[in-house]
Amino acid sequence: MEGKLMSPQFNNYPPHSFMKDFKQPIQYEKHSRKECINYIHVPYCNERCGYCILSSVIRDASKLGKEIELIKKEIDLYSDNIKDREVVAALWGGGTPSLLLPEQIEDLYGHARKKIKFSEHAEITVEVKPGTLNNENIEAFKACGVNRISFGVQTLNEEELKYCNRNNSVDIVYNTMDLAAKHGLNDINFDLLIGIPTQTVESFKTTCEQVFSHLRPNHASLYILIVHPKTYFARLYEKNKEMFAGDETKKRMYDVFFDTAAKYNYTATSPLNVAKNSALRSKYQYYNWKGYERIAIGPEAIGYCGETQYINLSWRDEKYEELLNASELPVKCSYNLSKDELLRRSVILGLQNLELNLEEMNSTYGLDVLNHFDSIWKLLIEKQLIEKKENILHLTPSGRKLLYYIQTLFYDNRIELGQQGIAGVIIKEIEHVNNPVEFAG
Ligand code: SF4
Repeated sequence: MEGKLMSPQFNNYPPHSFMKDFKQPIQYEKHSRKECINYIHVPYCNERCGYCILSSVIRDASKLGKEIELIKKEIDLYSDNIKDREVVAALWGGGTPSLLLPEQIEDLYGHARKKIKFSEHAEITVEVKPGTLNNENIEAFKACGVNRISFGVQTLNEEELKYCNRNNSVDIVYNTMDLAAKHGLNDINFDLLIGIPTQTVESFKTTCEQVFSHLRPNHASLYILIVHPKTYFARLYEKNKEMFAGDETKKRMYDVFFDTAAKYNYTATSPLNVAKNSALRSKYQYYNWKGYERIAIGPEAIGYCGETQYINLSWRDEKYEELLNASELPVKCSYNLSKDELLRRSVILGLQNLELNLEEMNSTYGLDVLNHFDSIWKLLIEKQLIEKKENILHLTPSGRKLLYYIQTLFYDNRIELGQQGIAGVIIKEIEHVNNPVEFAG
């Protein structure tokens, strides 16, 4: 991921902790629509962000020949099995794909375009570190069909950027946007981060003002810092916790993001995303949360194909290369979802689009979804976290802040919630919402 990290939301179900011991074959034939999305992960960076927990390779791009060939092999292994699918949105992320050399970009992503069918108007987003675009790599991305850019901005405050070990500045972001616009790439997303050392509500307000009033990307995503062990931030945290915003401050920053975006006429499209208007929402996110198959390729990529959820091995695992050389997918674990798990997955992911269409879900699963989770919906409606209007369940603004907890209520009770806490604690959290302003950070 280009300069971002975990946030309190779920993009997969069941979680890794549950499926880690399974290795079941992908059931390619099990799919109800030809439209799907595609993710290609190239975990390669030129420096490590202060909060990074990923096993990204830090190396000169010219030395990535073997790694690129292996990802191309994986593309080949999928291509025959997904001939009847059509990609309607793709995210090519990292790492930092914009650090690849132009010829590597054309070689890798051009290969994906040749081997996998993309719809004529597919949204194709690439993750870019501000300051790493140039005339050559932009043209290489465009030649592969890229029409949307996601910038890992995180913050526009110079001191905070130094802690992140990211070499951005307002000028660099402006210049990179200008360069992209000169090449006709105007559909831009910004990733912003709250919880950076020394960040305050005021400094985040300044960043948001610059973003939404001056830079005006079509779309912005908010990420909430979780300090992970063994990172630079974890070492800083041990020395001085005071440098890090507490939960109360993060709640206020969360409000600053949405209030500032609304002030400049942006619309919330999920509990952590805004767009200039709903037509400019991320199609990749939208379809992902609607439950479309996600053909995910590359080390550590997490995919969902033919009702099978899978996680790939890392580059660092020698089996990754061994399997690909033997023409096998580099899958670490894979799990075929039951009908009940598919339903839970649809609710858990679907809520991120802020609403669930009951009619659609009832007909997909052949049951009454409202009745099926009767006691949970009752609790959520009573606490004004969900509202029912005709056949649509809407997440209220208070519900958006608690989505993380709400999602875990739909977990099967065989699943241990690990770092999310235990189900009882979560229910208690929601039951205590009298004036629901809690924040799931
Ligand atoms: S070091 Fe690379 S993979 Fe890690 S957070 Fe930064 S950009 Fe993402």
